[in-house]
Amino acid sequence: MEFKITQNLIDEYIKYVYVYRVKSGYKAISEIDGEKEDEIKNKYKNGGIQKWLANKLHLTLEELGTLESNDVVLKEKEKINKWFEKYSNKKSSTKPEFKFESWLEFYNWYKEKIINDNSCCYCGIKEKDLEIYFNKQTSQYFVNEDDKARQRGKVLELERIVTAPKEKNIYSKDNCALACYICNNAKSDFLSAKSFKPIAKGINVFWNKVIHEDKNLSDEELFNKIVKFPDTDIWEKE
Ligand SMILES: [Zn+2]
Repeated sequence: MEFKITQNLIDEYIKYVYVYRVKSGYKAISEIDGEKEDEIKNKYKNGGIQKWLANKLHLTLEELGTLESNDVVLKEKEKINKWFEKYSNKKSSTKPEFKFESWLEFYNWYKEKIINDNSCCYCGIKEKDLEIYFNKQTSQYFVNEDDKARQRGKVLELERIVTAPKEKNIYSKDNCALACYICNNAKSDFLSAKSFKPIAKGINVFWNKVIHEDKNLSDEELFNKIVKFPDTDIWEKE
């Protein structure tokens, strides 16, 4: 029978490899299978983690190889790994104000954010619309004479909403949100969300203009892309 890559199979693969991160070692596998690390290591001494993974997904090693180079898998891998990097960096550099308990908790928080709206908590720009600005490739897009494209700005960033007093300036499910580069930079830890509101309104106007000026959009696309200003209790936070 011909090997077919289904969405279900992709989801399972992503779950084991990028969410549970089984390739990091047998410890992750022992947590899934409930067996001791040594026993699993022994059981899979021929073939290792790759063999375990193939068994789990009911695939041959060759089929697993095909799945691993699938475009959808690679795209998802890139996305999740960027956030894993963010998690690892923050965790190691910002102790003890990093209050997410584990990568899994952080991942689930992030996943829910991007599924629910994936927009800046202050100005409302959606992550997919950030591209419009960068596709215009204005002079602001490049950094100086070496024409190097900017690294930040294309994706939403991890933002702490309340930043003062110091004890409240933490990374947690309740105090974190997604914000665009402009809002994140402008608010910094200098302003409260409440005092940032009028500035966020200005940034909302900026993004709406960027989208309106994009001549390649049809009326219908334009209509759907109007950036709505967030109506949330974030504005009460001092
Ligand atoms: Zn914003």
